[in-house]
Amino acid sequence: MRKIEEVDQTTEIKHVNDLWKKSNEASVIVDLKNGLSLQDIIDKQKIIKPLAEPNKMVCADGRCQHNEETFCLAGSGILLPDEDFKQIIKDHGNIKCLTSHDGCGAGKLAFENFKSQGGILPENVLTADEFAKWWTKSKALEYGLDYEHIGAEKFNDPNHHERGLLINSITFNPELIKGLPNVFVSDLASCSKDDNVAKEISILTSIAFSDHGFGSRIKEQEPFYIFICAKNKTDQSRLTKITEAAVSNYGTKVRIEGFFSPY
Ligand SMILES: [Zn+2]
Repeated sequence: MRKIEEVDQTTEIKHVNDLWKKSNEASVIVDLKNGLSLQDIIDKQKIIKPLAEPNKMVCADGRCQHNEETFCLAGSGILLPDEDFKQIIKDHGNIKCLTSHDGCGAGKLAFENFKSQGGILPENVLTADEFAKWWTKSKALEYGLDYEHIGAEKFNDPNHHERGLLINSITFNPELIKGLPNVFVSDLASCSKDDNVAKEISILTSIAFSDHGFGSRIKEQEPFYIFICAKNKTDQSRLTKITEAAVSNYGTKVRIEGFFSPY
């Protein structure tokens, strides 16, 4: 008889296989495979500017809900140097709430960095999840913002299933693109230094390629997509260069597709 964990693992692999299949059936992926450019796909959809402005900082994690109200950064900015995070908050007066979430990959990395640099933790902070909550709550308090934690029960799925990464140089709502598969969303390119953006791209892509993400399912014919939403040509070429350098180790398993923001 198989052990319970083995049965659970098989069920989970089967579930992620289904999510992978679903991502291949997303109309944007089908159209790209058929040779359409992302720009053509976007142009056809006649996207108009949403009325709401982002007011909530949420992780780039594709399991969290991203919409017109969310401003997305890996770990809500937990990996950024303090000064850079401060500047983002200062520049975005509309942001009223910071959020953390269960099982945050960026939070885990920040926790490891913090410990290896000899950081002193409060007594009740023992795990990566507790660290992410503590960091986010502390920042909310520091800047007079609300704080919210997103539990796994609110995820669109318990498993990572990001087929791509949307890099925005304006805060672009991914819900506006019909047929987009589940993706990581990062608005960091709209507000931070190239170095920070490169790091963010590299970290999020590494989650997709890990055992927690689609991992070995990703291949040349069925790649991981990095969608660059640029405000102009200069911006597009800057972000393409940053992205190419950040993901060069994945070769043809990563495909970069750009489009100009429709608003
Ligand atoms: Zn996260």
